[in-house]
Amino acid sequence: MKIICIGQNYREHIKELGTKVPEKPVFFCKPDTALLLRNRPFYIPDFTRNLHYETELVVRICKVGKNIAPRFAPDYYDAYTLGFDFTARDIQEYCRREGLPWEACKAFDNSAAIGEFIPKDKFPQGPDDLRFEMKKNGESCQKGHTADMIFKVDEIISYVSKFFTLRTGDYIFTGTPPGVGALQIGDRLEAFLEGIAVLRCTIK
Ligand code: MG
Repeated sequence: MKIICIGQNYREHIKELGTKVPEKPVFFCKPDTALLLRNRPFYIPDFTRNLHYETELVVRICKVGKNIAPRFAPDYYDAYTLGFDFTARDIQEYCRREGLPWEACKAFDNSAAIGEFIPKDKFPQGPDDLRFEMKKNGESCQKGHTADMIFKVDEIISYVSKFFTLRTGDYIFTGTPPGVGALQIGDRLEAFLEGIAVLRCTIK
């Protein structure tokens, strides 16, 4: 099982980080030890002073595939949920400055919280018209609409499958909309996909 994450996929998020709009999808991976399931709490690791949430649509792969054309991509995923791509922003800024890889800031244990999957048939509008929201301590913090993605779900699947064989049970994080921010011990996060609560996480 692997977790593939897309970065810099919403223009308004690119603005808030001051990076530039990519010409091709930007991606990185997290190992299976990054998975945080069943609404378990997240413990802020002691190597960061600036732990951020990023709330993202997550797609579940249901079929083995390689070099998938965009028009066939829908055959390869069967469900959606939301995930938190926990990020050590201070380490990421250092990695960016020094031109270093991102594993230290993105791929650490429990950095990929994933909610309850909902079969894609429940959303006949398809993956490009899904709205989602994250509330921190009951207040709306992030709102996203997948129509605003620079690279849409089917393009992402086609692109990453040129590099990686996709397998049943892989997950793809599709990037965060704007509104990312720091977390403190005691924060309670709740994420809603089309109004349905799919993911909760308490920060410890
Ligand atoms: Mg992200």
